[in-house]
Amino acid sequence: MSEPYPNLFKSLDLGFATLENRVIMGSMHTGLEDIRGGFERLTAFYADRARGGVKLIVTGGTSPDFCGQLVPFSSRLSFSWQVSKHRQLTAAVHDAGSRICMQILHAGRYAMHPFAIAPSAIKSPISPFKPRAMSAGAIKRCINAYVKAALLAKKAGYDGVEIMGSEGYLINQFICTHTNKREDQWGGSFDNRIRFATQIVDRTRKAVGNDWIIIYRLSMLDLLTEGSSWEEVVQLAQAIERAGATMINTGIGWHEVRIPTIAAMVPRAAFTWVTARLKPSVSVPLITSNRINTPEQAEQVLADGEADMVSMARPFLADAQFIDKAKNSEASRINTCIACNQGCLDRVFRKQRATCLVNPRACYETELIIEETNIHKKIIVFGLGPAGMAFASVAAERGHAVTAYDIADIGGQLRLAVKIPGKQEFAETLRYFRHAMEDHGVVLKLGQSLSARQIRATECDAVVIATGVTPRMPQIDGIDHRKVVSYVDIIDGKVAAAERVAIIGAGGIGFDVATLLLDQHQAKNKAQWLHGWGVDTEYDGRGGLLDQAEAVPSQRRIYLLQRKHTKPGAALGKSTGWIHRTVLKNAGVQMLSGVKYERIDDQGLHITHRGEVRVLEVDQIVLCAGQEPNRTLADDLQGSGILVHVIGGADKALELDAERAIRQGVELAATI
Ligand code: NAP
Ligand code: SF4
Repeated sequence: MSEPYPNLFKSLDLGFATLENRVIMGSMHTGLEDIRGGFERLTAFYADRARGGVKLIVTGGTSPDFCGQLVPFSSRLSFSWQVSKHRQLTAAVHDAGSRICMQILHAGRYAMHPFAIAPSAIKSPISPFKPRAMSAGAIKRCINAYVKAALLAKKAGYDGVEIMGSEGYLINQFICTHTNKREDQWGGSFDNRIRFATQIVDRTRKAVGNDWIIIYRLSMLDLLTEGSSWEEVVQLAQAIERAGATMINTGIGWHEVRIPTIAAMVPRAAFTWVTARLKPSVSVPLITSNRINTPEQAEQVLADGEADMVSMARPFLADAQFIDKAKNSEASRINTCIACNQGCLDRVFRKQRATCLVNPRACYETELIIEETNIHKKIIVFGLGPAGMAFASVAAERGHAVTAYDIADIGGQLRLAVKIPGKQEFAETLRYFRHAMEDHGVVLKLGQSLSARQIRATECDAVVIATGVTPRMPQIDGIDHRKVVSYVDIIDGKVAAAERVAIIGAGGIGFDVATLLLDQHQAKNKAQWLHGWGVDTEYDGRGGLLDQAEAVPSQRRIYLLQRKHTKPGAALGKSTGWIHRTVLKNAGVQMLSGVKYERIDDQGLHITHRGEVRVLEVDQIVLCAGQEPNRTLADDLQGSGILVHVIGGADKALELDAERAIRQGVELAATI
């Protein structure tokens, strides 16, 4: 059988070590680094990925000193006594046949504590703390701290380090005039501004010897008006190579920049062109990243010669066996990262442990255990939305006999999500669960259901109700007017969208509907998308920015309304809410908070807004006013003597999302 991904599984000779494939598990903070007992769990997390075929892992960021910690008490390696806990981690990864590098990350002015330091005392927009400007002595001590952290990492058994020089962290803060206003040998000319970066790499190389990996993460596209020019990026990359880096990884965009770089709406592999552009200028292997989530996409990037290696982080949260499945021609069984950020980044931003929306076992490897069952039960599932699919596949995997009914097809609300621009990745989740249920022998009864009486006759051991939600019907005078439609009919395409639309409800679905209504005006390819966000694919100006973003206003008149006085979309994810709001704002969608709905009639929607009575003259009013649990079957089974479990939206519709639904399904399946 021919190799399915010949470029992906080509080895890479580093001179002193050979990597078996072209994939790096990129750095990602899990939250386990910082909690008591977290290292045992972190060890299990990385060992699982190593066993699944990842051959080179980069850990989450570890600070080389006190000031560089992202938040108080976050991970740091500065003293010999801190080494031992790392040893179990590196040993477990080595036992599984892989290598692991520790990322050294100094937060600089992104630190969320009052001891933040930076080249100049300029506050970042994403931390409440203004940093202290580093003295010349502090800079030298900081370089020493990087070198010491690398030496300690070597002592701890790591195979190398990644020096984090991008995303707007300390090293990057030295490189750009945006944050470096110094007039000494560490500021001013470009040579002076990159001295901090090159000295760290040079001194580290001299300290650790030649046969040890040093990856330098280089900001190839700052996306800042005072960011590096392309010529400076090339100059830096060549200087870093001379200083002794083994490989250069790609960094895209500072964290404070309001241009999406990894969210679901970013086209796949949208930034690999930047790495490709650097290739002719350096001879060390280049690693590319950002929105590469399938083996096909990774293979394509490598086949096109855009990079020597591909870094993926979130895809390994979603599926620890990603590499082995790709290698064994089972890519269709990969649980694909949908780039939602809900389970991972958004949780980390809330100072919670990361996990994954599509894989609740991620970072819970030692707690959420899926084992074969000794007691084989006959279980019937009703409803195959996220909760039902997750339950059915895992319960069947454990050896239970599972029959699953849905009055339509599999997917539930995810079938609607797939139709929203920027959410098409959910199709991968549907594909994954379809395979998982098939592989584990779930008997699917689609387009069918059973009555409570029929269920009693089956003599099953347990019934799982995952019948989801029904849209809420708000009490507004004229709600039965012909102009009023449900979001389900608009998303499904059963009802054509009108030219002037008011959307009642600005939650996740209200935003989805508004985005769908804009779609015809949205970017149709990668370049258009990048230009729409102001990214200059010619890289003529500083930071790779256009003078002005080429956003396209909507020709539809759209109002997005809510009664609360908070910012519309305030409950959306921290890492993605601003993107959704910006898209709608740029397209001219009018978002109104603090609205009182008065009535609906032929004229349109009558509201009171800021004490003023207004008529929104619209042709269509789309209801996105939340959900109610669909518990009819659960209620019918009450008192039947059958063991009934209610999960997902049928259990609790309020603030339901796929993450909670899938987790609830898997947790029940793990214990039933
Ligand atoms: P939701 O987020 O709870 O929003 C419901 C909206 O309807 C709110 O804006 C609410 O605002 C309004 N509303 C509630 N009761 C109303 C009433 N009686 N009359 C008029 N308006 C009313 O629910 P959803 O939009 O249906 O989304 C369901 C779940 O799916 C959400 O929890 C969300 O997390 C998830 N989801 C997430 C995303 C995402 O991008 N992360 C996308 C889609 C769905 P007021 O009460 O202020 O009017
Ligand atoms: Fe990917 Fe979403 Fe899982 Fe994060 S939570 S790893 S973005 S699927």
